[in-house]
Amino acid sequence: MEKNQIIDLEITDLSYEAMGVAHYEGMTIFVTNALPGETVSAKILKVKKRFAFAKIEKIIKESPDRVNIELNQWVQTGLASLAHIKYDKQLEFKRNQVVNLLQKAHLDNVEVGQTLPSPEETGYRNKAQVPVRTVNGQLEIGFFRRHSHDLVPLTNFFTTDPEIDRVLVAVRDILRASKVPAYDEIHNKGEVRYLDVRRSKANGEIMVILVCLHKDFPQLEKIATEIKKIEGVTSLVLNYNPKKTNVILGKADYLIFGKPQIVDQIGDVKFRISPESFFQINSLQTPRLYDLAIKQADLKETDTVIDAYSGIGTIGLSVAKHVKSVRGIEVVRDAVKDANDNAEMNDIHNAKYFVGKAEELMPRWADKGITSDVIFVDPPRKGLTPEFIAGAVKTGPKKIVYISCNPATLVRDLQEFQKLGYDFNRIDPVDMFPQTPHVEAVAVLTRK
Ligand code: SAH
Repeated sequence: MEKNQIIDLEITDLSYEAMGVAHYEGMTIFVTNALPGETVSAKILKVKKRFAFAKIEKIIKESPDRVNIELNQWVQTGLASLAHIKYDKQLEFKRNQVVNLLQKAHLDNVEVGQTLPSPEETGYRNKAQVPVRTVNGQLEIGFFRRHSHDLVPLTNFFTTDPEIDRVLVAVRDILRASKVPAYDEIHNKGEVRYLDVRRSKANGEIMVILVCLHKDFPQLEKIATEIKKIEGVTSLVLNYNPKKTNVILGKADYLIFGKPQIVDQIGDVKFRISPESFFQINSLQTPRLYDLAIKQADLKETDTVIDAYSGIGTIGLSVAKHVKSVRGIEVVRDAVKDANDNAEMNDIHNAKYFVGKAEELMPRWADKGITSDVIFVDPPRKGLTPEFIAGAVKTGPKKIVYISCNPATLVRDLQEFQKLGYDFNRIDPVDMFPQTPHVEAVAVLTRK
């Protein structure tokens, strides 16, 4: 097999990255955008020892699960790599990821629920962070093509709230009209690196963050006046990122106008969100995720709760009124401040949030003799550490509710808890990110 060769392939499976899988002369071939049940004429792009990558030249036999929409750019840039699959099949694909991981771990008695569908299948994101670069002499916003820094200009981001797309384009036009230079990452020159826009689903407030190379530049005052006129924009923040780096946000934020936070709402709890704080991006699906987690936690009025990886306190503050007390851990200082402010704003007096790394603070709490009845954990993709797990168990919870954005680390960590006297019998996938391969899931561990 060699590069550029064209062969007919029968697609038999879908990889966890949603690539079509075919077998050919002892090789496994991953075909971008191909679906199981399809026969395609494919062009080989890259050959390794036992596997190869290919792209579709022509679909010979099409799957009934295929959606035909003009989405090449997004698909290509990895923004919505499931967009060619019917939504109910996307949900099935996500459930299968969990089922397969459990099978590999020989956990045959665990039930996997149907993936909870998202109320919105497109336009669900309440936040967009898009690079700004010069393309063919013009300032553009868009998306980096996968594994590269080549900007594909875009104005419709598909999974993002259309109101955010509207603001992104309006800001782009203001930057162009005022001749503000886009960032040039090769020479670490120019000015605007990223646009970051957040919108509250609850009240429509919109925060625009310009990620810039300098704290100030000649056109800043003028563009601020123009951005203020965009319908719905309630604040403008300059994030100062002078370094030659791939990290999107710099360490300092300067409020140019408006309020320093936007306010969103989950259920009946209001949340103030600062520029650097994490907030779940699918506003309508988040309360459904939390409901599922909270229901399974079976909370009592006398319970002491720990909310680990708390962000701005969304989970803990959603349950605070039904339990004795809540204690939270979060590593981002601004988010902890937001969490404590949010408690106050909602008249909640039995919740307190602490700054720290969960894997360090949890064992310290355990050593100090702090106890808990229920622990919620919601870690980033890499999951929990053995130190965290040991510390959590030492506080003696009846239940540990695990919300995960990576089923591989979820299954790994659940097995670790099993070794320490906890058990679980079901996992519920929840679709927080339609059109993308990301899988969110909830599991509850109970002390044996
Ligand atoms: N539970 C929140 C946030 C979940 S996202 C919600 O549902 O909105 C995960 C959070 O963990 C982020 O806020 C991130 O800043 C935080 N985090 C990442 N690594 C951490 C660590 N080592 N210790 C504590 N918090 C961490």
